[in-house]
Amino acid sequence: MNSVLNFIKQKSGKFIEQLLPAQCLLCHLSSNDKLICTYCQNALDIKRPCCRKCGLRLVKTQDFCGDCLQQTHLFTQLHALADYQSPYSSLIKKLKYKKQLISGELLGELLTSSISSNVDLQTIADVDYLLAIPLHRKKHKKRGFNQAEIIAQVTSRQLGIPQLFDAVERHKNTSVQEGLSLKKRKQNLNNAFSLKQKQRDKLAGTHLVIIDDVVTTGATVNSLCRILLQAGVRRIDIWCICRTALPVQKLTADKQASI
Ligand SMILES: [Zn+2]
Ligand SMILES: [Zn+2]
Repeated sequence: MNSVLNFIKQKSGKFIEQLLPAQCLLCHLSSNDKLICTYCQNALDIKRPCCRKCGLRLVKTQDFCGDCLQQTHLFTQLHALADYQSPYSSLIKKLKYKKQLISGELLGELLTSSISSNVDLQTIADVDYLLAIPLHRKKHKKRGFNQAEIIAQVTSRQLGIPQLFDAVERHKNTSVQEGLSLKKRKQNLNNAFSLKQKQRDKLAGTHLVIIDDVVTTGATVNSLCRILLQAGVRRIDIWCICRTALPVQKLTADKQASI
């Protein structure tokens, strides 16, 4: 039945599409005009035990992971929606490689809902700007959009926090990070970003949230944090869809998940 509905939707115009029931993006059953149905929403609402600073999944009931006990990260707090696993990993791939922007809309909605339930209101109200982590110019041109910006757009709209555009440029295409050792990844990321002059004055004293789709070691976001803090930013948090565990090799099994 669902494949028949999909076929009709594909072959028909917008008018017919509006007459047919909305389908859940995950299970394809009726979703009452929402992107996912109540059943799928409830199945996703499971709290993951994680480090209170960097969002890394923890197996034991600790507050912080080893990295954070050694104060490795430059951001104040990272909130991740989930581990790098289904359905989030496949939604990210649909967004990035199949250009299904509706998957980005859903990821943005899920992230915003998770932020609203897990981050205290005072912290959310204190945020001045959302900053989607930029792609390298060539990659942006090839893909046609920045997936972090698509996600940030939803969060910005729903929480009423403006996005900061055109503030940072990415110089190195860091997708070649895969398979490199942690030390090499960090070296590779030196000077990966620079600030654009025209937005520099806006940064001093602000509280920024960097939006990213997948955070692995945190080296990329830390590299961006470094130049933002040097420019006088007061506080930086990270809100992302997935936070993966070390070692990074876990991701390399899935070649398309390059970040
Ligand atoms: Zn569903
Ligand atoms: Zn941690």
